[in-house]
Amino acid sequence: MVQKDEFCVLILGLDNAGKTTYLEAAKTKLTKNYQGINPGKITTTVGLNIGRIDVGGVQLNFWDLGGQSELQSLWDKYYEESHAVIYIVDSWDRERVDESKEIFDRMIANDNLQGVPLLVLANKQDLPECMGVREVKPIFNKNAHLVGKRDCMVMPVSALTGDGVDEGIKWLVDCIK
Ligand code: GDP
Repeated sequence: MVQKDEFCVLILGLDNAGKTTYLEAAKTKLTKNYQGINPGKITTTVGLNIGRIDVGGVQLNFWDLGGQSELQSLWDKYYEESHAVIYIVDSWDRERVDESKEIFDRMIANDNLQGVPLLVLANKQDLPECMGVREVKPIFNKNAHLVGKRDCMVMPVSALTGDGVDEGIKWLVDCIK
């Protein structure tokens, strides 16, 4: 049973977007003495990774779900239980950004996610050729009517270096608590 001040956050996005790396970075940044997995050892999510982080007395339970197309059909089983979604975009992969946006639109159209804050993270900002937030934002702001009145924010992050991780989590906690 979910306690007060305990929230479930889904981490979604295409395969290879950096979901697992992001969850590890969040744990490393926000958990004292956490000895994470070496980023080189992280492999793409198949199934489910779970993380639990305490942010100033608010407990966040993260569910990092696999992003391959055959696994995306499982996402909606988790929507009803979730209080927020972190959607990770590979900002380096220009070829798949439209695919990522299509999947995002399909996700936010689901009734069980109405009113749930959406944090879109333009990941891999450490890579020189990547799209910046200025490029990613207009793509994800298309079809804004689907977002409706939900809080929705696009922020830059590098899951690999940890840059931007704190800012995103802080925004999310302020939205849901
Ligand atoms: P998932 O399939 O979404 O869980 O993605 P992973 O976390 O397994 O990451 C996929 C690949 O992208 C791995 O090789 C990661 O090391 C790499 N990766 C993830 N985040 C970043 C990032 O911020 N910068 C760079 N350069 N690589 C990243």
